[in-house]
Amino acid sequence: MTGTEITSCTEALRLLAAYLDTELEEHEHGEMERHLQRCRSCYSRAEFEAHLKASIAELAHEPVPPRLSARVHTLIREFTVAGDR
Ligand SMILES: [Zn+2]
Repeated sequence: MTGTEITSCTEALRLLAAYLDTELEEHEHGEMERHLQRCRSCYSRAEFEAHLKASIAELAHEPVPPRLSARVHTLIREFTVAGDR
């Protein structure tokens, strides 16, 4: 796949998640930036998604209750032991 050109908003929105994760190829990333500069609707969509991602990342950093954490560790240990057999 070479020379991806983002010509439509559908295309831009399809790549948006990967763009925000900076998982796009360099040329695709450049195309996205160019599209976002031209297209106000995709730009605000990108802003919204970026904000949403930031909030989720923040939530993920909330401390996990110790009891739940212990339970998860037990489960992981059981799973690992079972996998060794
Ligand atoms: Zn657009």
